[in-house]
Amino acid sequence: MNKKFRVFATCDIGEAIDLLRNRGYEVEVYPRPEAPPKRLIIEKVKSGIDGLITTLRDQIDAEVFEAGKNHLKVVAQIAVGFDNINRADANRYKIPFTHTADVLTEATAEFAFFMLGSLTRKMWPAEHLTRQNQWGYWHPYLPFLGDEVTGKTIAIIGTGRIGLAMIKKCAGFDMNMLCYDPAYENHDYVKAIQEVMDLRLARGIAREKNWIKYVRFEQALQESDFVSVHVPLLRPGESPTPTYQLFNEQTLKLMKPTAYLVNTSRGPVVDEAVLARALRENWIAGAALDVYETEPLPADSPLRDPAIADRCRLMPHFASAARITRLSSDPNKGMAGRCVQGLIDVLAGNYGGDVTMMPYAVNKEAFAK
Ligand code: NAD
Repeated sequence: MNKKFRVFATCDIGEAIDLLRNRGYEVEVYPRPEAPPKRLIIEKVKSGIDGLITTLRDQIDAEVFEAGKNHLKVVAQIAVGFDNINRADANRYKIPFTHTADVLTEATAEFAFFMLGSLTRKMWPAEHLTRQNQWGYWHPYLPFLGDEVTGKTIAIIGTGRIGLAMIKKCAGFDMNMLCYDPAYENHDYVKAIQEVMDLRLARGIAREKNWIKYVRFEQALQESDFVSVHVPLLRPGESPTPTYQLFNEQTLKLMKPTAYLVNTSRGPVVDEAVLARALRENWIAGAALDVYETEPLPADSPLRDPAIADRCRLMPHFASAARITRLSSDPNKGMAGRCVQGLIDVLAGNYGGDVTMMPYAVNKEAFAK
């Protein structure tokens, strides 16, 4: 007979929870929309649960793993980023954690592209003009103009899953691309994109030749009209090329004064105080952000300065917030489905109980023989 596993979810992930209940698991879902206090998570873990479902707003570290010693078998995160989970601590306690990579790749990339469009074509100030009844005339350049993306050059910083999907979207808009990734250069993909762009030109679908290549970080910043960031948050010590405050005074000053920055990765990748100054002092033309050093964005954030509002789009960590992407119970389509499947894989002992074989497990190194 199946053991009756107990699971605590720090947030409601929709109907996918039924997949657990249908297996006879006992599932408690934290009912409130905001994150539960950490002491409540610890209390629930201590009560003997087998599985914990988390989101990026929960801090999961040694305190939590200690509370789950000898009974907590898996932490299943509904997100691809897992910088809120202390990997070294999870490994020390030998608790596997899973994430929901891939199923949010296209949704996140398309949102990054839409943010870029909204920013550069000034859709937000333009709509305000209409709503505030200040649309008095049609004029060739007044009250302001935006910048088109077609034929422009974009830097793709990080060419993992989402960076590559962003490249695909940008190719459709006849953009040139400067790619940078210190750890993973996908030359086959870049070559295929070049072939597609060449075919579009040969068949008269594109008007001008477009190109894509890998370059150094500095060159990507110096030569592009847009910079889109698709890196994980890696703090100093976590990688030879950390991403913490990768965008700082020195690197923002490398960008053209006409260039725009789009960040859908993680907030601490950008020094926000410096970015606000860069916008105020016109080091760059604009920024669109989905993620912040502190979330939700504090009331006194320098990014809220009304003086830069027309050039600074602020989204509420929304890039993966699309219906199917977030909630589908199908592990090949939805974060909820993939999160639940990752949890089931560990608890049901799928793949012969070998964590290193489980597709959604992250810290496989702790289980390698
Ligand atoms: P991924 O691991 O497939 O790709 C990340 C890439 O960044 C890798 O190729 C890696 O080599 C590269 N990288 C690492 N350090 C770098 C550096 N210093 N400079 C440039 N590149 C570097 O991850 P992914 O699935 O593409 O997701 C990327 C990140 O996007 C996630 O870690 C997450 O934090 C974030 N994300 C945000 C949202 C959102 O809602 N805003 C949604 C999904 C993912």
